Amino acid sequence: MKKLLILVCSALVCLSSPVFAKSLKIGMVIDDLRLERWQKDRDIFVDKAEELGAKVYVQSANGNEQTQISQIENMISRGVDVLVIIPTNGGVLSNVISDAKRDGIKVLAYDRLISDADIDFYLSFDNERVGEMQAQAMLDAKPKGNYFLMGGAPTDNNAKLFRKGQMNILQPKIDSGDIKVVGDQWVNYWLAENALKIMENALTANNNKIDVVVASNDATAGGAIQALEAQGLAGKVSISGQDADLAALRRIVDGTQTMTIYKPINTLASRAAEIAVELADGKTPAQNSSLNNGMKDVPAWLLDPVAVTSKNIKTTVVRDGFHAESEIYQ
Ligand code: BGC
Repeated sequence: MKKLLILVCSALVCLSSPVFAKSLKIGMVIDDLRLERWQKDRDIFVDKAEELGAKVYVQSANGNEQTQISQIENMISRGVDVLVIIPTNGGVLSNVISDAKRDGIKVLAYDRLISDADIDFYLSFDNERVGEMQAQAMLDAKPKGNYFLMGGAPTDNNAKLFRKGQMNILQPKIDSGDIKVVGDQWVNYWLAENALKIMENALTANNNKIDVVVASNDATAGGAIQALEAQGLAGKVSISGQDADLAALRRIVDGTQTMTIYKPINTLASRAAEIAVELADGKTPAQNSSLNNGMKDVPAWLLDPVAVTSKNIKTTVVRDGFHAESEIYQ
């Protein structure tokens, strides 16, 4: 394609003509814009990329992996220079990414790793650390008792990393008998409504004798808390979360959710826009880590997550302007 353009250009002596000036095109394909978290990522990413002179096309698969594959194909046909992918299922994109790479398109895995594919970069948070922080906060709240593990979407590599981190902390306490795992389920699509059903069933199965729910994000924590509320248990059962969603912060203030994990999305999304532009320019983005995705060691940059309880809301999310104080404390 580039060769053809140069040929045409040299034939017409058009190199300096602004008509042929090509602006950088980025295709951002997002798992699911129905979740609050990803709307923030999109807004910040698009603003920053446009500031850097790129044009961004955005699509959301609404949790459907086939839709996401079609959207990536569509971006390839539009001739994007870079694909920024938040995979719905990071395990099914090998073929479509091969197609993209054949066309010289760079690929950035955003927040979630893509396996068995020739991706150029992975930008995320230290997700194992997220899981460790969630479990540690639960142990701090209830060092002994019945624990219910509520994992995220089984198709999301992050969900596995969160669980790995949680088990790093919980396993010694399980072995010592201090805590008993009374159930372990994964929430399809990370949806609150699925978490609600899982929690209702878990409460019934355990005669309401659950002390802690290790929930992996705020959306699923929200669903679980609805089920706890119906049994008069909200605020009594400790429960973790992640994303510092506005609704979750309000629940923390009300005392029905114990903690969340704040991940400064501003830093992630802005850095992603810079990396996308660097990749398109043939530059090598700075890395502080690398992860093997089954095909190669993918250069990565992992950011630090922050644990948030009622004690440090003001010095973390409010201070960073992630949410306004007046919105959280109504
Ligand atoms: C992200 C979480 C998010 C979840 C559901 C994970 O991959 O890391 O921040 O809550 O997906 O969208």
